[in-house]
Amino acid sequence: MRTTVFPGNKTITTADVAAPQAAAGEVVVRVRHTALCGSDLRLWRDGAQITPGHEIFGVVDAPGHALHGTRQVVYIPVHCGHCDSCREGDTQMCLNTSVLVGWNRPGGYAEALAVPETCLLPVPDDIEDLLAPLLLDTIGTSAHAVRFIAPVVPPERPGPVLVMGAGPVGLGVIIALRDHGYSDIHVFDPKPDRVALAQRFGAIPHSGEGKRFKLIMECSGAHAARNGAIPIVLPRGAIVLIGENSQPWTINEDRVFRRKDFFMVRTFYFPMRDHEANCDLLRREKESFRILVDAEFGFDAFPEGFARFAAGQHVKPLFSVT
Ligand SMILES: [Zn+2]
Ligand SMILES: [Zn+2]
Repeated sequence: MRTTVFPGNKTITTADVAAPQAAAGEVVVRVRHTALCGSDLRLWRDGAQITPGHEIFGVVDAPGHALHGTRQVVYIPVHCGHCDSCREGDTQMCLNTSVLVGWNRPGGYAEALAVPETCLLPVPDDIEDLLAPLLLDTIGTSAHAVRFIAPVVPPERPGPVLVMGAGPVGLGVIIALRDHGYSDIHVFDPKPDRVALAQRFGAIPHSGEGKRFKLIMECSGAHAARNGAIPIVLPRGAIVLIGENSQPWTINEDRVFRRKDFFMVRTFYFPMRDHEANCDLLRREKESFRILVDAEFGFDAFPEGFARFAAGQHVKPLFSVT
């Protein structure tokens, strides 16, 4: 089968390799679309040992298996299903396994991959192929963060909300916030075109002047944004760290940080049981989510397409196998 290779130095090549073999408890998924993700940029620069791609939608190819031919997205955290965390439904935080598809085992920038059967999430017939990958990072991660913080800073309690970083997750958070009943949602992003997109989804551009917020959803992962959130979160408010950063982060423990009660919360990916609610959110907000999928390319156009994505020219493009 054909696969992509990320040797590093902002290069992507393709290779013909042996077709993936499903081990016990696994099935082969034929990839239709894998959405590009900003977190793959590091692999593009530094290189990857395995095929990346972790927002995968495809069709099960396992003749004789009950799921053969079904449309599925791949839930990337491999999980045991029986530890305390998994039994609580927190499958993204399994206490026994921390393997992620596309990070620690081959992912979806290829014609096919093998995945554990327990990592399949069925895509309902009324959700079209092009939107299906959004059920993972763009909707799953975003909506989980909103659901997780809602009991702490509920939408009924007045107070402005700020979303920092208007990439796919930040835009997904804006849509999920609105859907959850939050209003007065502000957005900050250094790129004017991303702010304009967020405005289409009902967010108000944040000027950076003096305003403070009850809830800050930090989606950029930038240390400057995280540190900038601390002085402007209101007492009893919350900062939710959704964005990621692999570099060490230092907090300046000054008066502003010390003399305030506030919550600082990290959320990661989403529990499997959210899938149905995420499908419903996609159905309600289909026209907004459709705007995010703004390009599509196959193997041959992938290196240039990925470079354009890295340069910020696409929001949520898809790698497609046709
Ligand atoms: Zn991602
Ligand atoms: Zn587990």
